[in-house]
Amino acid sequence: MTQLMSKASDTAAREKLEHFIQGLVKRNPSETEFHQAVQEVAESVIPFVLEHPQYDKAQILERMTEPDRIIIFRVSWEDDAGNIRANRAWRVQFNNAIGPYKGGMRFAPTVTQSILKFLGFEQIFKNSLTGLPMGGAKGGSNFNPKGKSDREVMRFCQALMMELRRHIGEDTDVPAGDVGVGAREIGFMFGQYMRLENRFTGVLTGKGLAFGGSLVRTEATGYGAVYFMQNMLAVGGDGVEGKTAVVSGSGNVALYCMEKLIQLGAKPVTASDSGGFIHDPGGIDESKLAWLKDLKEVRRGRIREYAEHFGCDYHEAKRPWGIACDLAFPCATQNELDADDVRTLVGNGLVAIAEGANMPSTLDAVHAFLDAKVLFGPAKAANAGGVAVSGLEQSQNSLRISWSHDEVDQRLQGIMAGIHTKCLEYGEGGSGVVNYVRGANIAGFKKVADAMLAYGVV
Ligand code: NAP
Repeated sequence: MTQLMSKASDTAAREKLEHFIQGLVKRNPSETEFHQAVQEVAESVIPFVLEHPQYDKAQILERMTEPDRIIIFRVSWEDDAGNIRANRAWRVQFNNAIGPYKGGMRFAPTVTQSILKFLGFEQIFKNSLTGLPMGGAKGGSNFNPKGKSDREVMRFCQALMMELRRHIGEDTDVPAGDVGVGAREIGFMFGQYMRLENRFTGVLTGKGLAFGGSLVRTEATGYGAVYFMQNMLAVGGDGVEGKTAVVSGSGNVALYCMEKLIQLGAKPVTASDSGGFIHDPGGIDESKLAWLKDLKEVRRGRIREYAEHFGCDYHEAKRPWGIACDLAFPCATQNELDADDVRTLVGNGLVAIAEGANMPSTLDAVHAFLDAKVLFGPAKAANAGGVAVSGLEQSQNSLRISWSHDEVDQRLQGIMAGIHTKCLEYGEGGSGVVNYVRGANIAGFKKVADAMLAYGVV
């Protein structure tokens, strides 16, 4: 009887999922990244919604997949040669049911509305999981900071803030950094906001330490991904010490993921950028990482130069998933790991993966990881450390105090452990294997959904 019931509810869930995704695709044509992010969430949440009809009746998932608003605007600026340039910028304010909008700004030529919508949608669930009062948003521009002078980047950031300032505020929407938006860009945008509004307030996070930034914000996403990995491994009585790790990317998330791995006695053996990846079988140690940080953060060089400097292999236009490892940390970009990569990783003995980047695994790859029953920490849980410390930066700004490095790090560890516990609540299926995808999606959904229910029809 129970089996029959479960089969009947499986069929109902499948039919509802199909119908729901068809509608979403129709309403948002060509937004493939957004479709993918919603599908991954809906696969977990729809069976839960059918078991809890109050969410279905109130059309919570349908409302949650429609942004509160999207602001689109032109950014006109002048380059060093005196040419007038124009870019497009967006702020996707997705959902503020549990707190002011919060999410990064991304500057890259590949930025589209679909990418910002997928990122903003993911952000709703991620922010909810942290337990902090933050709604979901994302923004950015198709501006490419690569190859631009500091002055050009400054003029662009200032021009962008001329419009963005109307839509943000410490109780409304608090943007942060993301790909292409680091300390330099946040400094330029914050300086312009202050000049225009004549107010020193925590309207952006990821600020420099001299002007309201938080210790450990720079490190938080990478460190948090490793803390999440520790929590997953600890369920089986295991740890990261002595493990070989494959890391992709060499930006903010990847560098501090490697730093924490090294501190905890693990051995990262790869790093990458959009040109290719390096493989250092002896391990990237503390001094090599210091050199790599200087290459990437100061000299803005290419990963190929690491291989030339340290005499290891460089694989042009390749991704690192063919290298044997115990742990994997995709920390570069969306859809950088597919189902074939999963088969290779699992065949080479992969134990666990924590997603540092947003949606680095294709939907087929997510399914393949779950089928293979390796520990899979999805982005919205594993990389929530960055936004969590952004939330702590907001708290410090409101209180007008600064916490010590240890205090912030302890809070970060506590938040990552809390997220892990929430994932267990809905991710333990009785089979002995935790489905962190389902756990993160349902736990993230429920808090926001309950707030939306309380508000009635808004
Ligand atoms: P970042 O500092 O700009 O670094 C991005 C890295 O990814 C760079 O090494 C970049 O190489 C590489 N990359 C970009 N596109 C690529 C491609 N198509 N193929 C291979 N490599 C590529 O950005 P980040 O802050 O580390 O962010 C990385 C990921 O983490 C993103 O998905 C972001 O949304 C996510 N995330 C970041 C934070 C945060 O706090 N920063 C928080 C949560 C999630 P190039 O230099 O060649 O472009």
